[in-house]
Amino acid sequence: MTQDTLPDGGSLTGTGAETVSKAFQAVDGETRGLMAPEDLALLSRLEKEFAFTFQQLRLFARWSLDCAAWGESAFRAEAEAGIGAAAFSIGNPRQKGEAIFKGLQRAYDSLAAKAKVYPAESPKEKLPAHKFVEKELKGRIFRLCPAASEKAVCCNLKVLNIVDNCAMACSYCVLQNHYDEAVIAVPVNLKAKLAEIQLTPEKRYRIGTGEYSDSLLWGNKNDILRDLCDFALANPNAIIELKTKSANVAWILENDIPANVCCTWSLNPQLIIANEEHKTASLDRRLEAARAVADKGVKVGFHFHPMFYFEGWEAEYQALMARVISLFSPEEVLWVSLGCITLLKGFAQDFRLKFRHSKLLQMETETTPDGKITYAFAVREKLYRNALLALEPWRGSVFQYMCMEHKPMWDAVMGFAYPNMAVFDDAFNASAFAKLR
Ligand code: SF4
Repeated sequence: MTQDTLPDGGSLTGTGAETVSKAFQAVDGETRGLMAPEDLALLSRLEKEFAFTFQQLRLFARWSLDCAAWGESAFRAEAEAGIGAAAFSIGNPRQKGEAIFKGLQRAYDSLAAKAKVYPAESPKEKLPAHKFVEKELKGRIFRLCPAASEKAVCCNLKVLNIVDNCAMACSYCVLQNHYDEAVIAVPVNLKAKLAEIQLTPEKRYRIGTGEYSDSLLWGNKNDILRDLCDFALANPNAIIELKTKSANVAWILENDIPANVCCTWSLNPQLIIANEEHKTASLDRRLEAARAVADKGVKVGFHFHPMFYFEGWEAEYQALMARVISLFSPEEVLWVSLGCITLLKGFAQDFRLKFRHSKLLQMETETTPDGKITYAFAVREKLYRNALLALEPWRGSVFQYMCMEHKPMWDAVMGFAYPNMAVFDDAFNASAFAKLR
């Protein structure tokens, strides 16, 4: 059976002398190819028997793909029940169609608002293998954090755009949409480009390299870590942050690392790592790597970002944070950040086609003032309050902040908000630089 042929022998195609079906026009071929035959058959019936509009057919296809990825069979059951009930209702096909559509909308919204239930062992996504290419860095590589926004309470992190793309595949990562091909571009001229950067001696900086790729996954390929360490030595007023989800710390352990270079790990409960952070190191391996780095005297940091709302989240994040606190002393840790899922508008369509087992989009969403999609305020607030409670033993001894959040959330959970980026930056730097050896 092809993607356009239905189990009942009908067709969504409109080739030859047939009329082009509205469903065929509304739902692109890639989406049809991923839809279950049962859902395609329902799509056809909704068009032919209940006069679904173009937009309603498109939404039905999107919702059925989402619910299949979430493992929620209740959506299809709702569609079948709605069609069954329509046989006994009065009204013309359009009126019946409207009633079915409303039921589907309610069913989808309620499934999206549910806390996700993850299986202990996630089905594996089909992900492409990456290949390496070398590239010449051109133009400015030193910039403000790409996620920074004047509408958020932002910390003025600076970033270096060094390696393009990542071989790990976190479902929520903006890089999944940013790069079309599975190609990792590693620079050949980093040293020369770093030499062009003139930092202001009187100012202090935190500079990350993990925004366009993972900072440690490639090790010292093309001398990138060596060049960054030399840059750190030449600029003691900057802290260079190597952010990772890998356990690839061999080069860090084998070489002299300047005091102003730190390694930070993005952490999540293992259940989330297994289901949404594909090809990354397990939680155990990340923490072992962080412990080894800290034992060497290199400062570390942790990003509990993005936190997920899923069944068991409260206890899972409490346990994760308690484990981190038990493993590291406050003197070893420069900072801890908190954040929630944040998606760019337009992220979802490509995402649906790529990750067929992810529950990422199973969320009650809200649009932030800067136009991004995130969890509803009440959900985020619960996640942050729970985290801050767990991190209470480190209050006052490890700098804690929220990333990509807005003033109302800061006021609600922190009890204050930095008035601007400069004040946030100063407070952050005062705490971090005080801990350098
Ligand atoms: S708060 Fe987050 S998004 Fe804003 S500048 Fe800092 S790291 Fe970037």
